Amino acid sequence: MKYLIDHTTKKVHRTSQIGDACNVHTSVSNEREVTENLTKVNEFIEKKQYVRCERCHML
Ligand SMILES: [Zn+2]
Repeated sequence: MKYLIDHTTKKVHRTSQIGDACNVHTSVSNEREVTENLTKVNEFIEKKQYVRCERCHML
């Protein structure tokens, strides 16, 4: 599974589930990051107060 980390909103999305409701700032490409590294994702969440996007993760 791939994750998109949005550094602008500090939210982690699942790339396969992203929709309009996510409000991903697609125009600011350098503040987003795509990764399959779940350890890295969890580090952002646990240490930097990032949150999982509710919309992506409830599907
Ligand atoms: Zn989302």
